[in-house]
Amino acid sequence: NRAIVCIVGRPNVGKSTLFNKLVGKRIAITEDTPGVTRDRIYAEGEWLGKYFTVIDTGGLEPENEEIIMKNIKRQAEMAIDTADVILFVVDGLEGLNSTDREIGNMLRKSGKNVIVACNKIDTPNFKNQVYEFYELGLGEPMIISGEQGLGIGDLLDEIVKHF
Ligand code: GDP
Ligand code: MG
Repeated sequence: NRAIVCIVGRPNVGKSTLFNKLVGKRIAITEDTPGVTRDRIYAEGEWLGKYFTVIDTGGLEPENEEIIMKNIKRQAEMAIDTADVILFVVDGLEGLNSTDREIGNMLRKSGKNVIVACNKIDTPNFKNQVYEFYELGLGEPMIISGEQGLGIGDLLDEIVKHF
């Protein structure tokens, strides 16, 4: 069975941008596949000869704050249930907030393989932004810029170590 990588994180941290960098082509998964809903996007990835399915849990993110929190929690639970590796994306420009902490607590308690990706570090000048994310207690955050395509190779190396 192919390894599953789930991308989780609050809206606007850059999950979908990163998803597109991590994968080749999107795959069609029909709605009668158990556990599949419209708010997830699936694609296949390959790195160093290892194949995996990436799930972007964000999908179409609603405006309403209460619904957003509910969705984030549901998505984190789905990731905990199905992923071999969870990619927890945080926003290095905005910094750590209470929603990140809540997601982080859920993931930490699950005991799953979690990689924190500190995104939007578009230049080395922003690297100090990463330190506060150690507070999540999920190990050393990886520094990336999904938009600039920085740190993606190192992130993939780390992901496939877990398969
Ligand atoms: P999602 O809601 O978590 O899926 O986030 P998106 O991938 O849709 O990105 C949200 C916003 O952040 C968009 O305006 C992106 O252009 C921007 N963004 C994503 N990745 C980066 C990055 O590495 N650096 C910067 N500066 N902006 C980014
Ligand atoms: Mg998205």
